[in-house]
Amino acid sequence: MKIVLSETLSYCFGVRKTLETTARLLADRPDRTYCMLGDIVHNEHVIEGLKAKGLRVVQALDEVPPGGVVILQSHGSARDRYRELERRGLEYIDATCPMVKIIHERIRAVEREGRTPVVIGQAGHEEVRGIVGQVARAIVVKSPDEVEPELFAGVRRAGIVAQSTFVEAEARRIVERVRALVPDTVFHDTICRPTKTRQREVEAHTPGADWVVVIGSRHSANTRHLFNIARALNPRTHLIDRPEGVDDIAIPADATVFIASGASTPGELIDEVVRRLEARGGASGRKDGRP
Ligand code: SF4
Repeated sequence: MKIVLSETLSYCFGVRKTLETTARLLADRPDRTYCMLGDIVHNEHVIEGLKAKGLRVVQALDEVPPGGVVILQSHGSARDRYRELERRGLEYIDATCPMVKIIHERIRAVEREGRTPVVIGQAGHEEVRGIVGQVARAIVVKSPDEVEPELFAGVRRAGIVAQSTFVEAEARRIVERVRALVPDTVFHDTICRPTKTRQREVEAHTPGADWVVVIGSRHSANTRHLFNIARALNPRTHLIDRPEGVDDIAIPADATVFIASGASTPGELIDEVVRRLEARGGASGRKDGRP
């Protein structure tokens, strides 16, 4: 079995920075209560590890104890949330990824220019809620089919941004459909570079692989997108969120397996999947024991 590893694996810089900041806070100030509002990253293993180090998970600001410090998630928050934190006098650490902050700035600029803000992304996803929450009103679409004339009735000028982890090709199809309805449309391509790099690597390697294993949480949008891109090119594509999952995939001894991962997948999890495949006779060509 030949194991081919994607060039880009494990955390993107945004997730890494958020996790490092959180771990440092927990280690440096054990006397303080740090509260995570929702999941600061989309990976259950990582969250469980932080909880074990003392991080408290809260779903609402009401649950923050007196003196508690709120850590805001890497995928960003709506303006209302900052206002509410200040109204309550709560201390907070803003762990929003710089790439997401750029999306917030772009959509506010779209509104200032008098254009109708349009967000390409999954309505209800926290990042999209945070982006939409930067402006008074925005249209959200996640597929070309959703770009219906009724939705854009009365829109004369539009400005589009995309969720940072959206699929590049699909975003461009959506933009084309919007432009067919609203010719005066500008598109700010805000899909982040780490997302594009991973998507391109999956597109490049999947056709040459017999099997594809994408490692990451099903709750992670970028992981699901990688899976869908690979699955469209190769039906023998599997998404696993824990190392044992690879044991259930019947990969023949002479197969080539391509491994990809989401941007919030820990390196140890990827290492363990590779170890398990190597134990079944796979050769990954790794020199230092890490992907
Ligand atoms: S996927 Fe992109 S936007 Fe999201 S945390 Fe990573 S670098 Fe930032």
